[in-house]
Amino acid sequence: MRYHVWSIGCQMNTADARRMSEELAHYGGEACERVDDADVVVLYSCVVREAAQNKVHNELEQIRQIKRGRPSMRVALAGCMVEDDRSELARRYGFIDRFLSPKIDLPLGDQVADFLDLDERYRLDPEDGERIHGISQPVTISQGCNRRCTYCIIPFRRGDERSRSPREITREVEQLAARGTKEVVLLGQIVDRYGRDIGTTLGQLCADVSEVQSLERIRFLTSYPLDFDRDLMKAVASLPKVCEDVNLPIQAGDDGVLRRMARGYGVESYERLVEEMRSVIPDLGLSTDIIVGFCGETEAQFENTLALLERVRFDVVHVAMYSPRPGTASARLWEDDVPSEEKKRRIHEVERIQARISAEINEALVGTRQQMLVEGTRKGKWYGRTRHNKLLFFESEEPLAGQLVDVDVTRASTWSLQGQLSSLP
Ligand code: SAH
Repeated sequence: MRYHVWSIGCQMNTADARRMSEELAHYGGEACERVDDADVVVLYSCVVREAAQNKVHNELEQIRQIKRGRPSMRVALAGCMVEDDRSELARRYGFIDRFLSPKIDLPLGDQVADFLDLDERYRLDPEDGERIHGISQPVTISQGCNRRCTYCIIPFRRGDERSRSPREITREVEQLAARGTKEVVLLGQIVDRYGRDIGTTLGQLCADVSEVQSLERIRFLTSYPLDFDRDLMKAVASLPKVCEDVNLPIQAGDDGVLRRMARGYGVESYERLVEEMRSVIPDLGLSTDIIVGFCGETEAQFENTLALLERVRFDVVHVAMYSPRPGTASARLWEDDVPSEEKKRRIHEVERIQARISAEINEALVGTRQQMLVEGTRKGKWYGRTRHNKLLFFESEEPLAGQLVDVDVTRASTWSLQGQLSSLP
């Protein structure tokens, strides 16, 4: 059986797609690059913005053509396009054999066995499975979300918040580490709420995962400002494997806009939190998400967001144009009244200002020594990430993939750093 697993969107899809590939490999499957060669195709879809959704529709149309020529091919659709009511999808794409709901946490092995009519007994031992390389790997630790940000479709598609057990997570990390993974990115929609439903915390989980011997680094995504408490700050500050690198979406730098987004915090309290985090966690890397052109966002409100960028000085800003999503409160209640041309102007404005700030932050790193996890080679140079997740390149003849090395930064640009190896591991 040859399988092709396709995914777009968030890292949670990447993590699920990786686990699906592993499962298929345990059933004796062999990965293939092209849909044309596959017996089994699984798509991890995304609908967070219309643009992503359109890409999934394009992919499905191509698969429709291919399956016409090879009707035995089996197709499963997973991810956030899978709603509770699939009748519309089933009608439009009659060739889809199975929908895998992101609300259902059935062990993946069972889902695959059921989908492919396979017998559990044919499942290979994980140890016998294909080796899946990946020095840095995402690992989902909680599913779903209990918040209802007015623009966001994810809670409707992924259901309520639920945490995976620390034992299960630690086992997954151990298995990855045994195959060469050195860094895990722990994922949850609101990752800093991890454990509240099962009597533990993200800080505790980070301590548990730190025990995995050959693992070098731990990151986590995405944090919610109201849930980042002092204990978690202390955990990040004190656990050596946990990178001082936090993704803390603010979404807008204006209280009126934040209120209509129902984010539950204001600009001032966000900035106070950042100040506290920076005082507890020395040398903190910080990134954020921003939506421009939300319903009713005035020019003055948008400028408040720009001013916030100047004050907080994030390392990285992920910016998106507001995209009304079916079923969400903002799509029902308010007009999508910022014209698309204006949204584009605003996104470029954010990118322009942030490019300058990122370049300044990176420039200040020239002359410093950075710990780096080497991930591979590109154009004859080794590349990898610093603890702040910045891309860093250097030259060396040594075999260094998967190694933690120290690199002296010699040059900086907006998006990356260049350096010289200062010590071999
Ligand atoms: N759970 C995370 C974010 C998940 S979605 C959180 O609480 O922040 C990832 C990012 O997509 C969000 O941070 C937001 O900036 C963006 N996004 C979500 N819905 C959107 C929409 N309708 N239009 C544009 N961007 C959106």
